[in-house]
Amino acid sequence: MARDYYATLGVSRGASDNELKRAYRKLARELHPDINPDEAAQERFREVTTAYEVLSDPEKRRIVDAGGDPMASAGAGGFGGFGGAGFSGGINDVFEAFFGAGAAGGSRGPRGRVQPGADALLRMRLDLDECAAGVSKEVTVDTAILCDVCSGAGTNGDSKPVTCDTCHGAGEVQSVQRSFLGQVMTTRPCPTCAGTGETIPDPCRKCGGDGRVRSRRTMTVKIPAGVGDGMRVRLQGQGEVGPGGGPAGDLYVEISEQPHERFIRDGDDLHCTIRVPMVDAALGTELTVPTILGGEATVKIDAGTQPGSVTKIRGQGMPHLHTGVRGNLHAHLEISVPTKLDKQQTEKLKAFRALQKDHVELVDSSSGRGRSRVRNIFTGR
Ligand SMILES: [Zn+2]
Ligand SMILES: [Zn+2]
Repeated sequence: MARDYYATLGVSRGASDNELKRAYRKLARELHPDINPDEAAQERFREVTTAYEVLSDPEKRRIVDAGGDPMASAGAGGFGGFGGAGFSGGINDVFEAFFGAGAAGGSRGPRGRVQPGADALLRMRLDLDECAAGVSKEVTVDTAILCDVCSGAGTNGDSKPVTCDTCHGAGEVQSVQRSFLGQVMTTRPCPTCAGTGETIPDPCRKCGGDGRVRSRRTMTVKIPAGVGDGMRVRLQGQGEVGPGGGPAGDLYVEISEQPHERFIRDGDDLHCTIRVPMVDAALGTELTVPTILGGEATVKIDAGTQPGSVTKIRGQGMPHLHTGVRGNLHAHLEISVPTKLDKQQTEKLKAFRALQKDHVELVDSSSGRGRSRVRNIFTGR
């Protein structure tokens, strides 16, 4: 059966080149492995890419429109010249990583026994100070590594793989069925050799012929300053080794940022709350506040500072991941009213009240300004 490339991309048969490109871009963004590492998405990403490659090539598209499948005879190398999609460098790198190693599905003939390995993901909890300063941490990784006995060959001693008896080296088996259209030939990967065209009669005692073994190892991961919750640090070639000792996938370390007791993060900016006694807010003062990364900053409280006002302390936020330029710290000022006054304080405040010129007012709900005066029973004003 020819695959329906139009359905894979979700476009109509008459779709223009621009429509194809748009549909593909949209799907590639959703499915591309940096965003969506799960295996089903990666498989779909490959299908979508094949479909786009076929339909964007006028010659291949003609074959599809005639009811054929231009990819049925192309080997894994069919992805070689890919790159005309006009994406930014980042995505192209991903495409190269994906297809350069011959990971493309849908090929015919024996596939290599050596296949690229899968990516691995682990999560790392970091507190805000570690995110700000960057950190080196030991992690334990449980992945497949190259079998040290056979170095990935999968064979025992000097024994060699032999041609598969079932498919005679073709890697696929065909069956013929009769239908009302006549004879229909179906091809599927050989079940005996899993499509590789060869079997190992005397497999390696340690890995059983897979060429790799599972292993726990500890390694030190360097996390750069400025990382945040959900970001992934990629360690190239530190994922799983592939079947037959194939090139290792990548290891992704996903950051899980723990809440901080004083600071709330908003990108590169930080927010904190400072409670200022009422008299300090009225008279003005200067404070020294601890900042992230063990620093200190002087905060000037102007005379007459109102509750809820925010003071920006420049350069005391988080360092930007790429530039290292630090964001700002926003200090939200709470004004506190004393709840216990001793005799002397009460006397002084009463004397102050006798001198105060402010009135009690009802506030206009739309403008927020004081409008109508309320009579103060104590002062009579
Ligand atoms: Zn076979
Ligand atoms: Zn082995």
